[in-house]
Amino acid sequence: MPTVRIGPVSAGPGEKAFGYVEMFELPVSVMRLPVWIINSGTPGPRVAMTAGMHGTEYVGIEAATRIARETQPADIRGTLVVFPVVNVLGFEAADVLAVPIDGQNINRVFPGDAHGSPSFVLAHFLFDSIRRGADAVIDLHGGDAAQALHPFSVCYETGDANVDRRSMDMAELFDMPFIWAMGPQRGHSGMMISELSKCGIPAAIGEAGDLGTCREEDVRLHLRGITNILRYLGAIEGVPERTLPVAPEVFRSDFRVVARRGGVFSALVPIGTRVRAGDLLGVIKNIAGDTVEEVTSPHPGVITSFQSARVVHPGSRLYHGLMP
Ligand SMILES: [Zn+2]
Repeated sequence: MPTVRIGPVSAGPGEKAFGYVEMFELPVSVMRLPVWIINSGTPGPRVAMTAGMHGTEYVGIEAATRIARETQPADIRGTLVVFPVVNVLGFEAADVLAVPIDGQNINRVFPGDAHGSPSFVLAHFLFDSIRRGADAVIDLHGGDAAQALHPFSVCYETGDANVDRRSMDMAELFDMPFIWAMGPQRGHSGMMISELSKCGIPAAIGEAGDLGTCREEDVRLHLRGITNILRYLGAIEGVPERTLPVAPEVFRSDFRVVARRGGVFSALVPIGTRVRAGDLLGVIKNIAGDTVEEVTSPHPGVITSFQSARVVHPGSRLYHGLMP
């Protein structure tokens, strides 16, 4: 294994490094991207891990930091590169979704653009670094500060059976009950995992934690998933640990439930609930307490997240769900 370099940060065989890559200049400061490199010096998989694309998804940031701090070169085969917080500006500002300077959701602008606005520059750097230097990528997410979320994992089906099987295996190894398998006609465009999968790099997202919290049980869920995937890839010893009584359920489509009327929303179903089309999900009342809308599920599926706003307007997002 030769020396691994990410910008000015480098780790030779048997070395571990932490440092910053200068991404772009701001009027006063410079945005620096933190990165860990753990280079075993032995042959093995080159694994990249990212967290904090969304600045308040603290569970993923904590799990990535812990794995990076605690893993020593002698613990692994191959290399592990960890970007513990991608959206540094959003993290510092506690912005729930965007890179504050340009308002973009970075996980919609991959593969990025070296000459674009800050989100595009950052996406381009990550995409390029990982595409050239990794055999697999793990991306950690969760519910943001305004979102209650039930754990699930995500992969992207490109049509290349070999890549897709490995991405699905990685998604399964997060050991979460639901998998969202996106594809070219399904899911979001411009995600990091989709663009890297299309380049032949197996990739999966784990989603755990929510509402601006960093509960230890959620961190452990991510840590188990990461450890399982590192074992599967051959980066560390051991057999993946599975705790679910049945295989995760795979969904290939998603749906959103939005408010049609403004008012005060009361949620009636917890996240993780299985619903049928037409099931009552909540009610919107006016300030006099009259029900103005009964919110029902447009599809059968499972409710994976809920926007926690009590006061809603026409078009406000209420629930997100997965369906077959
Ligand atoms: Zn996220």
